[in-house]
Amino acid sequence: MRIDTNPIVRLEDYRPSDFLIDSVELDVRLHPTETRVIATLAMRPNPEGRPDAPLALDGDELNLKSVALNGRTLAGEEFEASPQALTIAQAPRQPFTLTIETEINPTTNTKLMGLYRSSGNYCTQCEAEGFRRITYFLDRPDVLSVYTTRIEAEGDDAPVLLGNGNPVESGTVDGSDRHYAVWHDPHPKPSYLFALVGGRLGRIAKNFTTMSGREVELAIYVEPGKEDRADYALDALERSMRWDERVFGREYDLDVFNIVAVSDFNMGAMENKGLNIFNDKYVLASPETATDMDYAHIEAIIAHEYFHNWTGNRVTCRDWFQLCLKEGLTVFRDQEFSSDERSRPVHRIAEVKTLRARQFLEDSSPLAHPVRPTQYREINNFYTATVYEKGAEIVRMLKTIIGDEDFRRGMDLYFDRCDGTAATVEDFLRAFADVTGRDLSHFARWYEQSGTPRVKVKGRYDPDAQTYRLDLAQSTSPTPGQVKKDAMAIPVALGLVMHDGSPSNGTCDRVDSRGVFLLDKPEDSIAFTGVTSLPVPSLFRGFSAPVKVSLDLPNEELLVLLRHDMDAFNRWQAAQTVAMRLLAALSTGAEVSDAEIDAFSAALASFMDRDACEDPAFAALVVTLPSEADIAQEIGRDVNPDTIHRARSEMRRRIGLSCANHLRRFYESLTDTGPYSPDAASAGRRSLRNASLDLLAAADPGVGEALAVQQLESAVNMTDRLASLSVLTTLPGEAREKAIARFGERYRNEPLVLDKWFTLQAAIPENGTLERIKGLMQHPAFSIANPNRVRALIGSFAMLNQVQFNRADGAGYRFLASIVLRTDELNPQLAARLLTAFSTWRMMENTRRSHAEEALRSIAQKPNLSRDVGDIVSRSLEESQGK
Ligand SMILES: [Zn+2]
Repeated sequence: MRIDTNPIVRLEDYRPSDFLIDSVELDVRLHPTETRVIATLAMRPNPEGRPDAPLALDGDELNLKSVALNGRTLAGEEFEASPQALTIAQAPRQPFTLTIETEINPTTNTKLMGLYRSSGNYCTQCEAEGFRRITYFLDRPDVLSVYTTRIEAEGDDAPVLLGNGNPVESGTVDGSDRHYAVWHDPHPKPSYLFALVGGRLGRIAKNFTTMSGREVELAIYVEPGKEDRADYALDALERSMRWDERVFGREYDLDVFNIVAVSDFNMGAMENKGLNIFNDKYVLASPETATDMDYAHIEAIIAHEYFHNWTGNRVTCRDWFQLCLKEGLTVFRDQEFSSDERSRPVHRIAEVKTLRARQFLEDSSPLAHPVRPTQYREINNFYTATVYEKGAEIVRMLKTIIGDEDFRRGMDLYFDRCDGTAATVEDFLRAFADVTGRDLSHFARWYEQSGTPRVKVKGRYDPDAQTYRLDLAQSTSPTPGQVKKDAMAIPVALGLVMHDGSPSNGTCDRVDSRGVFLLDKPEDSIAFTGVTSLPVPSLFRGFSAPVKVSLDLPNEELLVLLRHDMDAFNRWQAAQTVAMRLLAALSTGAEVSDAEIDAFSAALASFMDRDACEDPAFAALVVTLPSEADIAQEIGRDVNPDTIHRARSEMRRRIGLSCANHLRRFYESLTDTGPYSPDAASAGRRSLRNASLDLLAAADPGVGEALAVQQLESAVNMTDRLASLSVLTTLPGEAREKAIARFGERYRNEPLVLDKWFTLQAAIPENGTLERIKGLMQHPAFSIANPNRVRALIGSFAMLNQVQFNRADGAGYRFLASIVLRTDELNPQLAARLLTAFSTWRMMENTRRSHAEEALRSIAQKPNLSRDVGDIVSRSLEESQGK
């Protein structure tokens, strides 16, 4: 198969570049179809490279116009050029200047990598390997250069011209309608951080003074007319900058910081030095168009990209295997920021839900890979939950193990040592090993070993000796390429909780002063002494390690934690664990007594009585059951999504009925008064109110429909409006269809709102959904070339609609396969992302599994697949080892 012939890039093959590029001068003459790029590179042989190596520059679909060495145009026999490479066999052994002229077509660039047009504006995306679509280059992260960029365009076509760094000069080009701007970035950077923008853009700006007194102008550029929707993003940027100064001592280092929102973008956003480019969905917000969740995402992603200025840009990655070095660390930093700005426990629960839904799933699928992979066919396929979210958990565990103070000292040392360099995971860990004097080599296994460890725990109380003993055993299932697994260094934050809520008097000398025990062997036991009555162990408080836990405790003891644990995360976890046990049993036809469900409902009701009003956002999380996808993952084999859906609906109905009075009270008392505010407390009230509506509708569809219709009409913000529409989509009938039609009409000119509308309809768990989606693909707002639209309609169907994507007749799989093949011709990255929805196929029951395999094989057999799709489909079909 063609897909197996792609070269594999291996970490062990890394060697330094044979040449270096000290400075880059780019002259970019923007044109819709014939953009000229003249790159002047100041180069020299790398003393660490091979002495006789040819100069081999990367390209991708490039059209070379000319190449000159030290000012002399080279003749055809002096170099070899193809769209993919430019090679000069006899390159000078002294410093030299290489001038390369290429021509590119931004209009036909539907891959959205390199220079392309979005809504008529010019923009770039260079990570990971997009710069080679602009000019021939040593397109690898360990080649750092100082960039000066001159951008020229028609004044009418692109009045705004932006580049990396600081503005140097601008003016008009004599005798023409064209104008130009020159930007200079004094900080050496790899090519993946290059960016430029040209277009018609509106702007908002604000001044910021850094902690050492540097004046910075912050600006956000958006589609003209939408400037006021960027206010929240600008505010989030300012708060992020202040937070990074306060918490990490990191200051901004240029005179300007620009953010541009574009509507066609493969990812969330990109941290280009001084010129972040964002998917507009993570910039634009107004109460009328954005939900509380959108506001929270905007805050987190603005922060994330800003934090990259130090973790990613000032200290970059030596090679793409080290991607987690910038991403895991930066996700950790944005999580900490959001936790400080919002409710820490609520945010932690949200992080863990995402980790389990995406990363644990990946770890148990054919696409499992270590946080630092050792090989890849296509690096674009490694921007994964494992690299990002599990990468962040590793940093968090490190902090848990060494403590806050040593963590900050280690970070300071890392920045001091590695500023201006391209670093590795080893450099990062060495900083912490050096400040603590600890050997972190065992801990480093988290970067190397894939799969989610499972920790089995047994507790035993001895009333005579007044001791409580915990036996812990860890294991990790085989994953592709890694059959044998070693024990990990797992920080277990734990404590004992007494049945009556009184403080535990037990002590254990193997638990440190921060309440953490380090499990670093396959099996271990610890004992608490002086325990005067039977306790309940509270384990992995705050989710102290990304592991699955099997705990041998009856439901009623777990529910003691919901009531009394001082750790909010574990209070939530206790309710989830009990709910999951019941749901998994119901889904697989195991016996579940009414009494068990009633006991759980009663525990929820008493929780609502006592605690819900203190922190409504937390309460909303407690009363929300695990998702159908979570339940499928828990069951793990021979999954039938239909029985899961029925089990979950039945549990929601039962809880809705037995807690109806509480839910009704919340629904009535938590209405918004006053103008909309996206702050965490207000959002929390809305989330509990809407979670209540959802359960009330599950208990009594008639009541639910009436409330939802009324809420849809009276809502004054998108959060409440969308929540009521979401409830209505679960209730088939005329009211739903009318509501859907009116919502679509109301927001017909708001693409980002229509995305939500697409998503809700794609998630309807009914047989007509596939036809509905095909109809929506004809909607004037839908475009197969726009990643946001495709993800909203088709990505949501595949990822959220367990029942319909995994239809027993295979129609869902065949549909997705056809869309993957269609998008692959336009945008391989988007196609490969959609394809990852198949990663659960092996856990399905027989009939579904064979339909899914057939659909995957139909993709694999197509000629001319992109490297992105070819890689995912071949890994998805590979026989996983040890299974
Ligand atoms: Zn990032």
